[in-house]
Amino acid sequence: MKHSTVVGGSTAKRVMNCPGSVALVQLAPPSPSSIYADKGTLLHAVISDVLAEDRAPEDMLGLQYEGQTLDQDMIDDKINPALDLLDQLDPHQEMKLTVETRVGFGKFLPGAFGSCDVLGRLGDTAYVIDWKFGEGIAVAAEENEQLMYYAAAAMRTPEVAWVFDGATSIECIIIQPPVIRRWTTTPKRIGQFARALKKAVKVASLPDAKLNPGDHCRFCPAKPTCPAMTGAVDRALKVKLDAIDDEMLGKYAANAVLLQGWIDDLNALVQTKIEKGYKIPGWKMVAKKGRRQWVDEVVAAKTLLGLGINPQKPLEIISPAQAEKKIKNLPEGLTVSVSSGDTLAPESDPRPAVLQIGQQLTAALSKLI
Ligand code: SF4
Repeated sequence: MKHSTVVGGSTAKRVMNCPGSVALVQLAPPSPSSIYADKGTLLHAVISDVLAEDRAPEDMLGLQYEGQTLDQDMIDDKINPALDLLDQLDPHQEMKLTVETRVGFGKFLPGAFGSCDVLGRLGDTAYVIDWKFGEGIAVAAEENEQLMYYAAAAMRTPEVAWVFDGATSIECIIIQPPVIRRWTTTPKRIGQFARALKKAVKVASLPDAKLNPGDHCRFCPAKPTCPAMTGAVDRALKVKLDAIDDEMLGKYAANAVLLQGWIDDLNALVQTKIEKGYKIPGWKMVAKKGRRQWVDEVVAAKTLLGLGINPQKPLEIISPAQAEKKIKNLPEGLTVSVSSGDTLAPESDPRPAVLQIGQQLTAALSKLI
C-alpha cells in the first residue's frame, strides 16, 4: 500500500506534535516490517473482503501475506469478534458502508491521503471506523488523530461525500477485538482538526522545524538517529563511571533489593485484594495467554493416525502446533485452549477482566445459608 510522504492517517499525530520529524524521517531508512504488522495487514485484507465481497472468512483459510497464514484461530480470535462488534453498531444491518477507501485532502493539502478501513452512514451520523488487530497497545478513540484525519480527508473526497452529506454528528470508532471504543464528535471539530493539520504541515516544511519528543516517537522511523533521542542517550552515557561513589552505589543496590521486594509485595497485595472481590482503581485480573492442548489424547492420537500423521514423539504425543505443521486444518473439537492462570493488568489492557468466580460464589452461598 502506498503511503503519503506529506502526512497520512498513521503519521498525523507525529507530524502535528513533532514538525521536525518530517525532514528527519525522509532521510531515515524505511522501518522493517514485523510479524505483528504483517499479521495486521493480512487480517485487514480478510475483513475487507468479508465486508466488500460478502465472503465467509473460512473461504480464505490458508491465505498468506509475508509469511503469515490465515488460520482458524485468527478467524475465531480477531475476525469474527471484530465483525460482531461492527454488528453492535448496526444491529439491523441498515448502515451503508464502504471499505478500504482511499481518501485525500485534494487542493486543501496536496499529497496528503490515506486509506480508511470503514466509512458508514446511518441516520444523521457518519461513521469512521479503524480496525486494530494488535494486542499490546490499547488505542483510544477520543481525539484520535488518525480517525480525525480519515474523517477530514473523507469529507473532501467526492466519491464518499454521501457519508457526510447533512450529517450532524461523526462517530470515530476503534474496533480492537475484544473491545470497541467510540467517540462522538461534530463536523465543526473535524474542520478545526483539518486546519490544524494544514498548519502543522506548513510548519514542518520550514528549515528550523522543531523536534519535540513524546509518546508520538513510538513509531517514528527516525528514532535511531533523532538528535532529541540520541542526545538523551549521550547525556546519560556521559556520566563518568569513575565519578560514581562506590560506597553510595552499594547502598543504592541494597535499596534496590528492598524496593524490588516492595514492588513484588505490592503487586501480590493488589492481586489478592482483586481476587477477594475488592475494586482497585485502574487494575483488574486477566487470563494469561491460553495454550492449546488435546481435549482427549487418545482420541487425538487415533484421529491423527487416521490422517496419516505419526502422533508420537519418543515419549509423548506431539502438540497441536506440531500437528498443524503436518496438516493445515485440525478437525474441530480436538483441541482446547487452557490459560496457565491469571495475571494482573492495567484497566486499559484489551483482554477482558477475569470473573472472580470463587469470591462471587462465596458471596452467593452466604446468602443461602
Ligand atoms: S523520534 Fe520523536 S523527537 Fe525524534 S523526530 Fe521522531 S517524533 Fe520527533
